[in-house]
Amino acid sequence: MTHTTTHSDQDYEKVITEKLGDAQLRTNLRSAMDTLIHKRRDLLSSRYPQWERLREMGKNAKLKVLAQLDMYLQRFEENATRNGFVVHYASTAKEANDIIYDLAKQKGVDRILKGKSMASEEIGLNQYMHEKGIVAKETDLGELIIQLIDEHPVHIVVPAIHKNRHQVGQIFQEKLGAPLESEPEKLNGIARKHMRGEFEGFKMGLSGVNFAIANEGAIWLVENEGNGRMCTTACDIHVAICGIEKMVESFEDAAILNNLLCPSAVGVPITCYQNIITGPRQEDELDGPKEVHIILLDHNRSNILADEKYYRALSCIRCGTCLNHCPVYDKIGGHAYLATYPGPIGVVITPQLFGLDNYAHIANLCSLCGRCGEVCPVKIPLPELIRDLRAEKSHEGRGVVRGYKDTQHSKLEELSMRAFAKLACNGGLWRTFLKLSGWVAPLGKWVGVYTPVLKHWLKHREMPVVHANLHAQVKALEGVVYE
Ligand code: SF4
Repeated sequence: MTHTTTHSDQDYEKVITEKLGDAQLRTNLRSAMDTLIHKRRDLLSSRYPQWERLREMGKNAKLKVLAQLDMYLQRFEENATRNGFVVHYASTAKEANDIIYDLAKQKGVDRILKGKSMASEEIGLNQYMHEKGIVAKETDLGELIIQLIDEHPVHIVVPAIHKNRHQVGQIFQEKLGAPLESEPEKLNGIARKHMRGEFEGFKMGLSGVNFAIANEGAIWLVENEGNGRMCTTACDIHVAICGIEKMVESFEDAAILNNLLCPSAVGVPITCYQNIITGPRQEDELDGPKEVHIILLDHNRSNILADEKYYRALSCIRCGTCLNHCPVYDKIGGHAYLATYPGPIGVVITPQLFGLDNYAHIANLCSLCGRCGEVCPVKIPLPELIRDLRAEKSHEGRGVVRGYKDTQHSKLEELSMRAFAKLACNGGLWRTFLKLSGWVAPLGKWVGVYTPVLKHWLKHREMPVVHANLHAQVKALEGVVYE
């Protein structure tokens, strides 16, 4: 995926139609999302009576740092340098890639082993290294699966969640020459054997960062497979790519956020591996990397930070739960967003990282149901931000999203939005509209057969039941609880 490509409405329509027509994909996504949603919900109700308080603490921990990010970055740099890290700043994706490539060249490295890192996806690291003759090999199980079939992560936490175990078995058979298996233990065994061979004698490991702790000059990595620990400790040179928004003030704040991250991401109180790295190998130590480099990546994050509203998106701890709860994501999967970051958080940050003119349609991939805002552990007001982004797209926003161009403006869309705004702002009109819709909606399916626009709309949808009064709507929603 190249991030400079402009994605037209037609590109989106093509890929979304394809994904909606893929019954296997939809079954896999539904099953995986249900598992993640239920695990999280059961854990929160049984072990986190103070979850709301924890969310508030997490939100405050992030906002405190964002309010003075330059000061915390400087503090991190000073403390990390004292601990022996080498700190680099990269304002663009290219700068980050160049730093890594130059390091590899200096050290005579032609193979980099990677732990899971969405920042490395964002900068297109694998492709960049490939063009320079360096192999960047994934070691996370999900990332390994998708690298074998030349795809990109479909989810920010579980990159191959769109594949079921039978499909994974076939991929391993085809690409690794392994016997055909479908039991998770056997599949893990195949991946482990393959990766052990890769880890032998490797020199450079690359990872992401979950929390960069300013007061200590340390980094914290959260993972479940142990491959992250191998990538960061069994090599001579470890390079960590860290978006500047990953900064936190203290270990205490990182612990609060970690307590929010693990239950939200995979429904567990804590993941199997928690790696806190305080520097390279010291003189009296037997193992660990001789050098640790941290690349503090901006890539338009400063622009987001400068905005009075969108800056809240920088609080994201990449837990992925907004994706799991999104009724659009669970139908089409991550690839249909044509972007590194899919789902609600992807809708908000992609146009700001890569330009709204390149991703104009992405703001439409939202039903504005509000679930993402309810479940976000750091209380990012995602529905509001997505709504704002739509206004931005139809000329009525505050004009701060990078890459905005008149060419994406649709008159029909603007007119519809204006009409909707008139209706939604007037109680009497709104009630009349609902009443009329309640009568007209059941005819929609029949009318749809003869009306081109409706026909198109109904291709993948049922006509919704419209309730004319609030009481009936509340009744329809009974039993739908996300917390
Ligand atoms: S926006 Fe919130 S829910 Fe979505 S990935 Fe980020 S922290 Fe998680």
